Amino acid sequence: SKTRVGLLFGGRSGEHEVSIRSAQAIAKALKSDQNASKYELLPVYIRKDGVWQKGEIAQKILASGEPFYLPEEKTTSTDLVPSPSLLPDPTNFAEIEVWFPILHGPNGEDGTIQGLLTLMQVPFVGSGVLGSAVGMDKIAMKMIFSQAGLSQVKYKMVTRSQIWSNPCIFPKLCDEIEAELGYPCFVKPANLGSSVGISKVRSRSELETALDNAASYDRRIIVEAGVEARELECAVLGNDQPQASVVGEITFASDFYDYETKYTAGQADLFIPAKVSDNIANQVKEMAVKAFLAVDAAGLARVDFFYVEKTGEVLINEINTLPGFTATSMYPQLWAASGISFSELVDRLVQLALER
Ligand code: ATP
Ligand code: MG
Ligand code: MG
Ligand code: MG
Repeated sequence: SKTRVGLLFGGRSGEHEVSIRSAQAIAKALKSDQNASKYELLPVYIRKDGVWQKGEIAQKILASGEPFYLPEEKTTSTDLVPSPSLLPDPTNFAEIEVWFPILHGPNGEDGTIQGLLTLMQVPFVGSGVLGSAVGMDKIAMKMIFSQAGLSQVKYKMVTRSQIWSNPCIFPKLCDEIEAELGYPCFVKPANLGSSVGISKVRSRSELETALDNAASYDRRIIVEAGVEARELECAVLGNDQPQASVVGEITFASDFYDYETKYTAGQADLFIPAKVSDNIANQVKEMAVKAFLAVDAAGLARVDFFYVEKTGEVLINEINTLPGFTATSMYPQLWAASGISFSELVDRLVQLALER
């Protein structure tokens, strides 16, 4: 009989719309000729206010691609306060044999949903609680990468309280950042994605504004030395013996790969495979697998790199444990170029979840 797959999408993060598009592509793959005899698709949609909906409503969102809006809703999802009453009743989802969560950002790829699914005692696609949480928090991630011997940019951990609570600490903090990292540097909320809350700064006044802005998104903030580099990405697939895909490159005309560049059609170009030497590509692949194992990722991850052409250095930037999965996203495209079609990729991910 068919395996019933609960495709979990939407969610309470700023990446709700991307999640719907990823879910549409995965749903199509589950219903493709190759997979239809194996899997039954049960979509489950998490509204922006956190309510879980299955059945016809979820089907409709998938078909239309349009989020569900509450009539009175004017705020964005990130303004909503979590409410325990929004926790789903597991008995409503008892028929699901394996979950395929395709939620990006906070509450989606940070281990929280993964904890809930673990408590439900149903296997799920992708990393568990530890891998998701470490992959999401750029400070924890960098500490583990460093322990694993992976080269990366210099960075400094900052907390919201250092920025907001004590006006005497703040100038000293900025002095330290200037001395340790210099300009340009990047200020980032530790637990976000899609470049939300990230600033590239070149002066003291920009640094002050950027720290204040980042603190409005997260209690934990990271400041990194800026590098001038090409941006390479590598896809990883597997559990304990993960495989790396061919390497891809992203190019764009903007100052850095910011939110607008990521989500405006035509602003960024993907090159697969990246035009780099075999030596560089092999370094990237090896580091991608190392990073995957270091954070205890599972199933899938996209690992992002800086290639400093001048010095020949390859630096790891980050791992994303639930990367964008739309038909045009880097992750499935890297696998397509490595000989694994979108449908086969989805099939493999479900099997990897069941094998864990
Ligand atoms: P994603 O959407 O891939 O999850 P993210 O929000 O986690 O992204 P990063 O990948 O850390 O953010 O940074 C976003 C972009 O900012 C990078 O792709 C790069 O263009 C630029 N950037 C970030 N850090 C640095 C750095 N230290 N030096 C140079 N550029 C950087
Ligand atoms: Mg990221
Ligand atoms: Mg992300
Ligand atoms: Mg990134």
